[in-house]
Amino acid sequence: MIHPIAFIKNKPELCAFVLEHGLFGFLIWDTSLGMVYPSEIATKSMGLVPHQSFPAACLLNHSGYNLDPKYKPNHSFFGRICFDPNESAGFPFHFHSIEVSEGGKSYRILALDAALNKNEENQIPIIQSEMELKSVSRLLDQMANLAKIGGWDLDLRTGKANWTDVTKRIHEVEDDFNPSVESGLQFYHSEESRTKITNAVNALLEMGTEYDLELEMVTAKGNQTWVRTIGRAEYENEKIVKIYGIIQDINDRKKWEMALASQTAILWSFVEHAPAAVAMLDQEMRYIALSQRWIEDYKIPLLKEELIGKCHYEVFPNISDEWKKIHTRGLAGEILKSDEDIWRPPGWEKDQVIQWEIRPWNLLSGGIGGILMFTRDITESYETKLELKHAKEVAEKSYNAKSEFLANMSHEIRTPLNGIIGYSDLLAETLVDTAFNEYAQIIKQSAHTLLNIVNDILDFSKAEAGKLQLAEEPNDLKKVILDSIRIMDIQAITKGLDIRLDLDGNIPKTLMFDANRLRQVMLNLIGNALKFTEIGFIVCKLERLESTLEAEVLVRISVKDTGIGIALENQKKIFDSFTQEDFSTTRKFGGTGLGLAISRQLLSLMKSELQVSSTLGQGSEFYFIIPFRLPEVDLNLKSDSPNVMEDLEGKENKTNRSGLKILVVEDNLVNMGLMKNFIKRIVTDVSILEAENGEEAISVFQKENPHLILMDIQMPVKNGYDATIAIRSLPAGTNVPIIAVTAGIIDGEKEKCFAVGMNDYLSKPVQKENLKQILRKWLLEEDSRIKPEQSS
Ligand code: ADP
Repeated sequence: MIHPIAFIKNKPELCAFVLEHGLFGFLIWDTSLGMVYPSEIATKSMGLVPHQSFPAACLLNHSGYNLDPKYKPNHSFFGRICFDPNESAGFPFHFHSIEVSEGGKSYRILALDAALNKNEENQIPIIQSEMELKSVSRLLDQMANLAKIGGWDLDLRTGKANWTDVTKRIHEVEDDFNPSVESGLQFYHSEESRTKITNAVNALLEMGTEYDLELEMVTAKGNQTWVRTIGRAEYENEKIVKIYGIIQDINDRKKWEMALASQTAILWSFVEHAPAAVAMLDQEMRYIALSQRWIEDYKIPLLKEELIGKCHYEVFPNISDEWKKIHTRGLAGEILKSDEDIWRPPGWEKDQVIQWEIRPWNLLSGGIGGILMFTRDITESYETKLELKHAKEVAEKSYNAKSEFLANMSHEIRTPLNGIIGYSDLLAETLVDTAFNEYAQIIKQSAHTLLNIVNDILDFSKAEAGKLQLAEEPNDLKKVILDSIRIMDIQAITKGLDIRLDLDGNIPKTLMFDANRLRQVMLNLIGNALKFTEIGFIVCKLERLESTLEAEVLVRISVKDTGIGIALENQKKIFDSFTQEDFSTTRKFGGTGLGLAISRQLLSLMKSELQVSSTLGQGSEFYFIIPFRLPEVDLNLKSDSPNVMEDLEGKENKTNRSGLKILVVEDNLVNMGLMKNFIKRIVTDVSILEAENGEEAISVFQKENPHLILMDIQMPVKNGYDATIAIRSLPAGTNVPIIAVTAGIIDGEKEKCFAVGMNDYLSKPVQKENLKQILRKWLLEEDSRIKPEQSS
């Protein structure tokens, strides 16, 4: 805590109060502590040791009572300070009281004045005038001390010089120092100071010219300091008889001023030499400092020196109101900036793009001195950026065009493939038990392989174009993995390999995922494992891992083989599209190098990453970890078709009809023939109606009222969607099962089919088995006509 006496020194209003009233110093009365702290002069007037405090009980009013701590503040009264209760007189004073608070505490300040009240005079002896005078001069001294102001004089008649204590202290000389003009001047060491003071003193002595100088001097103890010294002359009969003056220690202020000046100089030189356009302006928007770049960037036809002091608006008379507003906001203290501002400077042929920032700068004494403006011409980089952006757009467009081309090509290839696959199926069936069966089987196999490749390319280009989407549904994970193994099992058996399943019992049965896509990944990995393994086995392993999230099931799925393995340096690159470990692979094993790339893309959609660990010659393990979500709904309530009731009703209507009629709407003749062939093989006693487009389909429907419609989507004249809508609007058409037959490459196609009122969905290339299932499902009561299961 700071001593109660100390804080008054920083409070000019209290100093003034004490100076005005406190002839004998002052007291600080800590009313909560009940203690009184006298100032130095006060202790002297009462014969106490400096800093000696005393209890408040010693403060008595004129009637001799202790002062109540709640005694009116800001009040003047007569009283005494009495240390010995037996000695009634004590020290009589006129008290002037004022209340102040400091650090949450309140104090009473009592200025001690002479007890000059007439009534009191009789009872209390007045302090001797000598003591008063002494005290006054002491007080002055104390104040001078505080302000570090000393006095001096020189009587020219007697030649005697006087220095006050403070003057001596400023010069750091002993108390018995004998001052004179010469001895005074010797403290000024530097040439500049010495010349100034000598000339000033001479002029004062000779002509009485007053001086007021700030000079650097060196004290008797060798300390360098700054003083302000003032000299004046006193005349008698127009003759100078005495010179006198004051000297003040201004070292602190001077140091501060010099630091400020050097700081300002640093700032200005920084501004001036900044390798950017910078300007420093004052509150009136006049230039204080600026960089050469400022002049260059703004093509100002003036020199830097000519610009200093000029108003910004005088230099740019056409400046917009918008800019003026921005400046005003900056001058009010706001920081404003823009990373890209396009404008057309007057007289320019093209736009300029600038980056700018305006921020206020503060005066050291507080307050905003003005603003600093930084600007950067970024026209060039802005233009480059635009060009790059444009180039990127072009690249993206051509990239998309490429993906689209790939997707279309694949689609185009799939259509004829449809025919090849379908007819080779039929051919193989027809040629059973003949020598040609083997050829038909080979055609069939090749066509299926080709279809797989085309499907891969299609998937890949879709993934590249970001158009691959997952259909997350509640699915049985174990079943999907088992299915994949089963599909590959025939290949494994032919090669004499064994596919094992190692399943963690901790994995919930039903999880949310896209079963088709996960199966695709598994088929790919198992297929690769089989392809690159000659001896040994393949293990599919499912392992549940710890997860921090409650609603998440982390499963590590791996496919491990005992095959040829992959060299370490190739382990990264095999994930790239169209890349195989080396070119000999293609020759030996075939393949397109797309499988892993697609698997990796599919897995990344599942928030997973395909990884490999492999040792050349020993085998490989491909693995990934999928964070599965748990299904939210009660699965027992799930039904395959939300419209079961409606469907049954629809079917009941048909029970009375005789002779099954199926309408096939298809514009491609090969596909039409194939479809007819399939239907005949699946259903007995059926008449197949044909329509080449949607328009025809409607009229055939109206005439024939078929039991089921197989509807192609993309057709000339009227497409499958519109035809469906039209048929549904007919009274007889509300319930007839309409099955979409589509290539299924367009996003949202399936949803759209359902939306327009179709009942189900059949993917091209149509395979007999799928068609059979669809017909069985939608022609329930005619099931007897559908031929029993037979191998094809
Ligand atoms: P593809 O098998 O059609 O060539 P993939 O993308 O499926 O394309 O595989 C890329 C390459 O990675 C393969 O050509 C082969 O060199 C290597 N590879 C993939 N799986 C295995 C494996 N189980 N064992 C050894 N090499 C493999």
